[in-house]
Amino acid sequence: MSEPRPDRTLGPRHDMFWQYCGQGELRVPKCTACGKLVWPVLKACDRCGDENFEWARMSGRGKLVSWCSFVQDYYKATLPVPYDTILVELEEGLLFISIPDGFTEADMSPGMQLELRLRDCHDSAGAFRLPVFVRA
Ligand SMILES: [Zn+2]
Repeated sequence: MSEPRPDRTLGPRHDMFWQYCGQGELRVPKCTACGKLVWPVLKACDRCGDENFEWARMSGRGKLVSWCSFVQDYYKATLPVPYDTILVELEEGLLFISIPDGFTEADMSPGMQLELRLRDCHDSAGAFRLPVFVRA
């Protein structure tokens, strides 16, 4: 069963991100000039300014850094409140905002080990797979 979600950001580089998610892979742009992982998606590397990237596959392992629970109803029908968001430090060092799967704020503690899952979702542009995290 596909879950309704607020509309994603789409565009040339974002589309590649969602395409990899659809294949079950979390990939982020990696600057081909200096090697920096650049997230969120930018037009140019924020370290060296180069505009060429390859898509580096992340392991899907990480740890919980921080979290918050939203009570403001920003998305009306597609995202009932309250809902939790988490900040995950991926094994590769990147900070990634996501949502918890199978646990809530009451279960969370800093450094908690997490593992990537891809959840079947849809928005007004169609079906996609959303990167979420479960307890490792
Ligand atoms: Zn660079």
